[in-house]
Amino acid sequence: MPLFFEKYRQSHPAIVETLFKLLYCTLHKQPKQEFRCSLSLQLLPSLAVTVAMALLFSTIADAQSPVEIDANLSTQQGELSLSGQWNFVWGQWLPTDDIAAGHHQAQIITLPNYLADLPVANSNASNNTGIMTYFIKIKNLPDVFLRPTVDVGDISEAWEAWWVDTSGQAIFLGRSGRIATTKTQQEFNNRNYLLSLPNNSREGYLVFYVSAYYSVRTGLYSDITIAEYADVYKTAIADLASRAFILGIGIYIITQNLVFFAQRPKERTLLLLAIFAFTGLLRAAFASGYVDFFVPMVDFHHFSLRFEYLLIVWPAVAGLHMLSAFFPFPALRYLPSLGYVFLFLLGLVTFNISLTTMTAYLGFYQYSLAFFASFCLVFIFRGLILRLPNARAFLFSFLPLIAAILNDVYASRSAQYSFYIAEYAFFLFMFIQTQIQASRFIVALDTAEHLTTNLQNEVDRQTVELQKRNTLLEEKADSLELKHQEVKLLSETDHLTGLYNRQSLDSRFEHHFQLARQSGQPLSLVMMDLDHFKAINDKYGHTVGDECLVFAASYLRGLNLRKRDLIARYGGEEFVILLTDTNLDMATRVVQEICDGLPRHPVTGQHPDIYLTASFGIAELSVSRVESPQMLFERADAALYSAKQKGRNRVESDIA
Ligand code: GH3
Ligand code: MG
Ligand code: MG
Repeated sequence: MPLFFEKYRQSHPAIVETLFKLLYCTLHKQPKQEFRCSLSLQLLPSLAVTVAMALLFSTIADAQSPVEIDANLSTQQGELSLSGQWNFVWGQWLPTDDIAAGHHQAQIITLPNYLADLPVANSNASNNTGIMTYFIKIKNLPDVFLRPTVDVGDISEAWEAWWVDTSGQAIFLGRSGRIATTKTQQEFNNRNYLLSLPNNSREGYLVFYVSAYYSVRTGLYSDITIAEYADVYKTAIADLASRAFILGIGIYIITQNLVFFAQRPKERTLLLLAIFAFTGLLRAAFASGYVDFFVPMVDFHHFSLRFEYLLIVWPAVAGLHMLSAFFPFPALRYLPSLGYVFLFLLGLVTFNISLTTMTAYLGFYQYSLAFFASFCLVFIFRGLILRLPNARAFLFSFLPLIAAILNDVYASRSAQYSFYIAEYAFFLFMFIQTQIQASRFIVALDTAEHLTTNLQNEVDRQTVELQKRNTLLEEKADSLELKHQEVKLLSETDHLTGLYNRQSLDSRFEHHFQLARQSGQPLSLVMMDLDHFKAINDKYGHTVGDECLVFAASYLRGLNLRKRDLIARYGGEEFVILLTDTNLDMATRVVQEICDGLPRHPVTGQHPDIYLTASFGIAELSVSRVESPQMLFERADAALYSAKQKGRNRVESDIA
C-alpha cells in the first residue's frame, strides 16, 4: 500500500499533495467566525436534499402484481399502480382484436423495465423490427374512478396507447410521435402524459405499442399509474410549475450576475457564474421535454435529443472554468481550455453519429460529466487549502449537487427508479452561490459608498478652505492692482501739476510719431514756455511760482482738447502740447487762442493777481519733414526760440 502511494505520488504529485493537505486541514480544523452564517445557509438546503433523497430511495419498491389487475382490490390511496407483470410481444404490432380474443403468444414480463433488460430475443433496437406490444387486463375501473387517467412517464421513443374492451371494441387513447415498422417511418415527437380511459368499461386491456429504433434504453421503463383525472392533472401542473420555477431562478441568476458584471467588469467570476447558470438553464430546458412540446418537429426533436446529451457535459466544463477563476490552480491551468476542446470534439461527434449509437453511449457522457465535476471538487479543495474566501461555501453547496448528479446517474441506469434531481440541485447551488457573490458585491459597494462619502466630506471641507483663501488672495490682488495703478500714475505724471511727465510724453510721442508717419496723417507738436518766469519767482517767491505752474497746467487742461491730444510738463515752466491729426494751420489757430486766453485769467492767491503770458513754438510733421521725434522737438524748440526773440506772448511755427 505505501509503495502504491509512493508510486502515485511520483506520477501525480499535485493531486496527492492536495489530498494530503486536505486531510491535514480537516484534522486541524479551526473555527472560523466568518463562515458560520454562510455555513448554516449552506447546510439547510444540503440537509433538505439529503432527506429528500433518502425518502425517495425508501419508496422504491418492486410490487408484484398479476397480469390481470382488479382495480377494486389494487387501488391504494387513489392510485392504481401498473408496475409488475405485463403481457409482452416482441417484434409485433399485435392487432387489438387478437388481444381481445386472447389469440396471442405473449410472454410475461415485469415492468418497469428497459427493453435491453427484457428476456426477449433480438432486442437490439437498431434492428428493423424494433416494434413491440405491451398489454395488461384491468377490471372494475369504474368502481374506483370517476374519470380514470393514465399517467405515463418517460418512454424514449414513439408509442401509442389503446383501450380494448372484452367485446373487442378499441378506443384510441393517445400517442407520442408515430410508431412504425421501419425506422425511417417512425417519428419522435413530444410526449403525451395524460391518457383518459373510458369510465364505463368494466373489463378491458390497456395496450401500448412502442417502436424502439434509436435507444436500447427504452420501453415502459417508468411507473405507469391510473389515477383520478383531477389528481393526475394537478401533478402535471405541479411538474410544469416546478419547471417554470427552475426557469425563473435560472433567468434570475443569469440576469443578476450579468448586471453585477456590467457594473464591475473586473469581476470576471460574475460572468463565469452567469455562463455556468446559463448552461444549467439550457440543460433544464432541453431535458424537460417541454421544449419538444412547444416545437413539435421531428428534425428539431432529433436536434434537441443530441443537444440534451451534449448538455450533460457542458455545465460541468463551464463549472470547471468558473471554479478555476475562483480558486486558481497553476498545475491545472489548462484544464478548462482542455474541457472546452473536449466539449467541442464531443459536439462534433454527437451531431454526426447516429442517434442509436449516441443513446447507446449515454454512459460515456455521464462519465465525462463525473470526470469534470470531480475536478471541480479539486479546485474547491485547492481553495480550502489556500483558505480562499468562499471555498467552504462552495464545498457545502457543491456536495448536494454531486449527490444529486450521482442520483441521476443511478436513475439513468435503473429501470425502476427515474427520479432526476440534478437540475434542481444545480439551481439550488447556483442560487446560493449567486447570493453569496451578491452579498460580497453589495458589501464592496457599501464600502465604496462609505469611502466616497468620506472623501466627499473631505473635499467639501477643503473646498471651503480654498474658497476662503481665494477670497483673501483676490482682496490682496485688488489692493495690489490699486497700488499698481497709483504707482503707474505717479511714474507717469508730474507730481506738481498732475500733467504727463517728460518720460511718459517721450514714449507716447514716439508712438504717435510712428503712427502718423505710417498713415500720412498730420501731427503738430507745440512747445510752450512761460515768459519771464524767473522774475515771478524772484518777486513772489518759489511757492507762488509753483502756484503759477499749477494754474498754467489747469488752464491747459481746461481747454477741452480732444482725448487723444496730449499735454505734458516738459520741465521747469515749459509745457508740450501734442495735437494728433492736426495740420499746421489748425494747430496755429488753436495755439493762438491758447496764447490769447492765458493772460485773461489771473493767478489768484495771497498775493496781488498775477497775469501770465507764454511763448509758443509749433512744428508739424509733414511741413518740417523730419526723420525722428527728437528732430521735431528741435524744430518746435527753434520756433519757440523765435517767438521769444520776437518779443514773447506770441505763437511762431516752423515753416521749413
Ligand atoms: P524767458 O523764458 O521769458 O526768457 O524768461 P524766464 O525767466 O522764464 O527765463 P527761463 O525760462 O530761462 O527761466 C526759467 C526759470 O523758471 C528758472 C527757474 O527759477 C524757474 N523755475 C524752473 N522750474 C521751476 C519750478 O519748478 N518752480 C518754480 N517756482 N520755478 C521754477
Ligand atoms: Mg524756460
Ligand atoms: Mg520762461
